[in-house]
Amino acid sequence: SERTLAIIKPDGLFGNHTDAVKKIILESGFRILKEKIVQLDQESAASFYAEHSARSFFHSLVQYMTSGPVLVMVLEKDDAVSSWRTLIGPTDASKAKITHPQSIRAMCGTDAEKNCVHGSDSPQSAQREISFFFDSMPSG
Ligand code: ATP
Repeated sequence: SERTLAIIKPDGLFGNHTDAVKKIILESGFRILKEKIVQLDQESAASFYAEHSARSFFHSLVQYMTSGPVLVMVLEKDDAVSSWRTLIGPTDASKAKITHPQSIRAMCGTDAEKNCVHGSDSPQSAQREISFFFDSMPSG
């Protein structure tokens, strides 16, 4: 089986979507191996999203991701990376509501930025992101 990193972003926690998202995770056959709530600071949010540092939305993304706590989870299942990406749906939640109405982002996201959840985009990213949160962060 495979591991992926899932994040319920600040809008997901503020909007009280945590229980509904976790219910979908468990009903879809994932095991939640680790979880913790983290308040990212600007430096760690910028580092997590370093690949987007040249994008126009980067500053806004860092503000959003530091606007409140996030819930970080390591999920395990066969094909976890692509299974989780399929469950969460397209990046832009406003479009997901039309094209993928059953997706998690359609359920609890708002737009291209405030899209409620994150999922690693490849097994390599998953490895990096899992160690980012569970090996190298001060809150361990
Ligand atoms: P994630 O990496 O969070 O799972 P993703 O892979 O679907 O999302 P990316 O293209 O990697 O999307 O973008 C990372 C995050 O940056 C998005 O989840 C979203 O919060 C934000 N973002 C992406 N595109 C835009 C945009 N056009 N405008 C504003 N914010 C954006």
